[in-house]
Amino acid sequence: MTTDPLVERMRPFGTTIFTEMSALAVRTGSINLGQGFPDTDGPAEMLEAAARAVREGAGLANQYPPLPGIPALRAAIADHERRFWSLPRDPDTEVVVTAGATEAIAAAILALCERDDEVVTFEPYYDSYAASITLAGAVRRPVTLRPGPDGRYGFDEGELRAAFGPRTRLVLLNSPHNPTGKVFTAAELALIAELSQEHNTYAVTDEVYEHLVFTDAAEPHVPLASLPGMRERTLRISSAGKTFSCTGWKVGWATGPAPLVSALMRVKQFLTFVNAGPLQPAVAVALGLPDTYFTGFRDQLQARRDHLTAGLTEAGFTVQPSEGTYFVTADITPLGGTDGITFCRELPERCGVVAVPTQVFYDHQEAGRHLIRFAFCKRESVIDEAAQRLTKLGS
Ligand SMILES: *Cc1c(COP(=O)(O)O)cnc(C)c1O
Repeated sequence: MTTDPLVERMRPFGTTIFTEMSALAVRTGSINLGQGFPDTDGPAEMLEAAARAVREGAGLANQYPPLPGIPALRAAIADHERRFWSLPRDPDTEVVVTAGATEAIAAAILALCERDDEVVTFEPYYDSYAASITLAGAVRRPVTLRPGPDGRYGFDEGELRAAFGPRTRLVLLNSPHNPTGKVFTAAELALIAELSQEHNTYAVTDEVYEHLVFTDAAEPHVPLASLPGMRERTLRISSAGKTFSCTGWKVGWATGPAPLVSALMRVKQFLTFVNAGPLQPAVAVALGLPDTYFTGFRDQLQARRDHLTAGLTEAGFTVQPSEGTYFVTADITPLGGTDGITFCRELPERCGVVAVPTQVFYDHQEAGRHLIRFAFCKRESVIDEAAQRLTKLGS
C-alpha cells in the first residue's frame, strides 16, 4: 500500500487556498475578504418560498425532484434566458438544473472530453476547472490574462490561436471573470467564436456573474452562445448562488441544444442525480423578480467595489479595475510585495484582513505572482472596517 490512497492525477490538488486563508481569518480574527460569499441573505420572496416548500412540501418538494429539475424552475430558467439574453430555450429538452454551477461544469467536461482531449481556457481560472479537466483525463491549455497599460486584463491573440489545435475539444470561458473582474469584449468573443468554429469545438460558458456587470464597464455582458454559429455548440452555465446571495444552496443550471444538455445529464445522473428539492421552486420565484432586483443588487455591489477600491488605493496597492463579479485584484509591488502567497499569509498579522493570492489559479504562476484578490460582496460596515484596517499597511 502506498501512503497516499488518492489517485495520482489528483495529488497535485491539495486543500484549496480558500481553506487555508479562511482558517487563517478565524485564527487571527481577521476580516475575511478571501472567499467570495455574501454576508447577507438574498431576496425575501425567495427565502419565503423555500420555507413554504419545506413546510408544505405536500409529499413532493422534500423528495427527489425529476432529473432535469422541477418544471417550474426549468420554465423560469428558459424565461430568464429569453428576457435577459434573447436566447429562446425549450424548458423540456434544453435546460437542466444542477448542484451549483460547479456540478454543471464538471458534468459538461466529463461528458464531452475523451482522455487526452484538450480544453482551452483562460488563466487565472476558477479552481474547479483544473480539477474537473484532470478528473476527465483531459488536458488544459490555459491562455494568460494580463493587466494592460490601463490596468484592464487582456490576452494575446496569437497565444489564443496557438492554444487551439487538433485535440481541442472545447473552450471553457468564464465571463464576467473571476478573479479578475474582466468582462470579455465583443471583439474577444468574436475571436473565440471564430476559433471554436474553425476547429469545430464545443464551448462551455460559466456565466454565474451574468448580472454583475457594473455600469462603467467598457462593454455589456454578451453570452458567447448568442454569437452567430455558437448556439448549437455551446453549453451555457449559471447559478442562483451569486445572483441571489445563496451560495450555500448550490442550485445551478446548464442550457443549450438538446444533444449537449442530454449528454451532460447522462453524467449528472450518476454524480448527484438531483439536489435541493425545496430550493428549486424558490429559485424559480427569484428568477422572475422584476428588473429592479437585478439592477439594485448590481448597484449595491458597485458601490462596495468603489469603496474597497478606494481603500486599497489609499493603502498603496495598484488596483486593477474590476468591471464585474464580486472581486477586485490588486498588485502588491508598490507595497514591496513580490510573492502573493507570502503577502497573503502575512496580511492578517499586519492589518487584520484576509485576501487570496491569485497565482494559485495559473499554470504560469509567474504571471500572477504579484496579484491578490479581494471580495467586496460584504456588508458596507465590513468593507468600511476593512478599508480602515488596510491603511495600516502604509505606516
Ligand atoms: C462561485 C463560482 C462558481 C460556482 O458556483 P456554484 O453555483 O456555487 O457551484 C463557478 N464559477 C465561478 C467563476 C464562480 O465564481
